[in-house]
Amino acid sequence: MSEGDELISKFHEMVDQAEAVVAFTGAGISAESGIPTYRGAGGLWSKYDPDKYANISYFMNDPTYYWNFFKDVRYPVISKAEPNAGHKALVELERSGKLIGVITQNIDGLHQLAGSENVVELHGNTRRIRCMECQKLYGFDEVRELVDASLPPACSCGGGLKPEVVFFGEALPIGAISRADALVNDCDLFISIGSSLVVFPAAQFPMVAKGNGAKLVIVNIDPTPYDGIADIVLHRSASEVLPRLVVGGEE
Ligand SMILES: [Zn+2]
Repeated sequence: MSEGDELISKFHEMVDQAEAVVAFTGAGISAESGIPTYRGAGGLWSKYDPDKYANISYFMNDPTYYWNFFKDVRYPVISKAEPNAGHKALVELERSGKLIGVITQNIDGLHQLAGSENVVELHGNTRRIRCMECQKLYGFDEVRELVDASLPPACSCGGGLKPEVVFFGEALPIGAISRADALVNDCDLFISIGSSLVVFPAAQFPMVAKGNGAKLVIVNIDPTPYDGIADIVLHRSASEVLPRLVVGGEE
């Protein structure tokens, strides 16, 4: 048995012994569904500058830039992305009663698509689009059609549309933060998956969980600043590690 296998086996035991597991997920879990991260982005994606398409001041001044990005990159990538084995393993953990919630930095909605029920979206969801005037909510496919009709797309009331995501320069939704805080306080095992743990408030969750006496496991390809305080660190992919937690006798 390799060292990595032993760690996964130890991780499995830790999950068995836990009563309230919380999973925190970042871009790493979605990368395996074909959604590149800002930094890892290449090809078509790199034609657009995140300082423009993801910045609130820029968006308010020139929404067409965002909607071109939506049409060329975001919609085609997100609409065909499917949940992977990592997302599905978290669904099974929730159904078994172990997992009390998923807190995510991702905006792709893949946890819900996989079947997760209790998901806290810290940065919103790019599939939900709202009128900035009358607050009418539009679906992803519906807006894709509106974009063909006019750029930038408009609501039936004439108002401008905005995806329900947190742009750079915007505050995180207070409701999501307080739900996330409650989960972090209630858990006895906190698993950080595919997050580099450098962006706040994500970066504080492992410390808070540990401070409350919870165990901490970090699953991320690259090292994170919290590897030193974690009970288990696995520099592996989510889709490799997580399915092994829900299959009996894997160790
Ligand atoms: Zn409207």
